[in-house]
Amino acid sequence: MYKGKLLSAKAYQARYWNEYSQTMSREKLNELHLKRIKNLLRYAYETNKFYRELYDRHKVNIDDIKTLDDFKYKVPLTDKPMIQPSQTPDNLYGDNLSVDESFIVGHYATSGTTGKPLYEAWEDYAIWRIGQSWCPAYWSVGIRPEDTFYFAFDFGGFAGFWSAYFGALRFGAKVISGAGVGMTTEKRIQQILELKPTVLVATPTYTLHMANAAREMGVDPAKTSIKYYVGAGEPGSASIPMIRKKIEEAWGCKCAEVLGVSEPPVVAPTCEEGDGFHEEEMHQFAWVRDPDTGKEVNEGDVGERIITNFSNYATIWINYRTHDLVRPTYSCPCGCTWLYYKGGVLGRTDHMLTYKGTNIYQSAVENLVSSFSGASDYFQLVLTRENEEDLMTIKVEAKEDLPPEQYATLAEKLRMELKAKIGVTLPVEIVPVQSLPRSAGGKTRRVIDLRPEDYKMELAKKYKSFE
Ligand SMILES: [Zn+2]
Repeated sequence: MYKGKLLSAKAYQARYWNEYSQTMSREKLNELHLKRIKNLLRYAYETNKFYRELYDRHKVNIDDIKTLDDFKYKVPLTDKPMIQPSQTPDNLYGDNLSVDESFIVGHYATSGTTGKPLYEAWEDYAIWRIGQSWCPAYWSVGIRPEDTFYFAFDFGGFAGFWSAYFGALRFGAKVISGAGVGMTTEKRIQQILELKPTVLVATPTYTLHMANAAREMGVDPAKTSIKYYVGAGEPGSASIPMIRKKIEEAWGCKCAEVLGVSEPPVVAPTCEEGDGFHEEEMHQFAWVRDPDTGKEVNEGDVGERIITNFSNYATIWINYRTHDLVRPTYSCPCGCTWLYYKGGVLGRTDHMLTYKGTNIYQSAVENLVSSFSGASDYFQLVLTRENEEDLMTIKVEAKEDLPPEQYATLAEKLRMELKAKIGVTLPVEIVPVQSLPRSAGGKTRRVIDLRPEDYKMELAKKYKSFE
């Protein structure tokens, strides 16, 4: 209890990790963002080849950016395929690097489920700023400095869990690594029983897999020391309510999920009151763009989240496309003034489907499949293109005790459910137990996009009105 005593009783009961910043008025937040943006643009132009050439090519004069609207509409958007080509074995970070190699203390790669990894360099202070972005999420679910974190993660090059680790240190908590040569899920369960951590950090899919493995070992995960779950790396615990409920029930814990992409690595905390995320506006500026018009969407409408990051001065992210579809609002019952994304991430710009005139969001399908009784926690959404139409086939593993002759009936039930809730009839295949790949603690590839490459290029162009 020593560390608990370090916080005053008042601070201990505080609603926010950082009340000053988390309840700042929109006017003040925007004032701060504009000031930081102007500094960042100047810094990028002077130190970073990628941004200098981009702005010269688009004839953007940094001194002409005087308002947030100037910034949104005059400063070109950036995207992974624009940055990646300059990364070569002789020039690891490519043109998007603002510091001398000797200042780099972290090397990370995007763990994206599509394409080549993108390398990212962090300077010293970035580690703590990026780590700190997790603290509001930890605090909001009730985690306090005397808690002990257990990382069921192999500590590879994926920045997400590294930053969660730096965040836990910044928070003042004890940290246990569940990595190691020959580490297995069973050994991790043993470690949890032995070391009694209170916070479990893992991807949502792996957390459910761990719960199943624990039960097979005769251990009830809900009766372990775990009181909180922190998820990242794939949508799940907060943006998909049914997965969140499953994790909470399996582990008898409270869920905090954050929204992050590996680049830029600052995360957005979930909200205790709502069913979505707040933007992390201490280190990031975000706006939501209509892919068709290129303009900012109205409050409550769906668009792509575009971010500018103030946490890392080695590799820089300005007006960067996350490809996450979100629905922004400026008010939330929790009192935090940071931009709020109701419903979390609704899908990806590259995975959105229009089928028989209906927009289908990946998260809606995932939520429905996860809540469907008779199906297991393992499923895949397979995208194909047939007769000039996108098609999504849902492959779900049956539960272990379901006899194969009942697969067809189960598939039909799920088809009906999809039709009733989403409004379209999608093919459903029930596949045998253990036939879909398992996540080994990393990201699970839940969407398999088998549509023709040239069609996907065409689709991508729709969202690329910037170059
Ligand atoms: Zn809130």
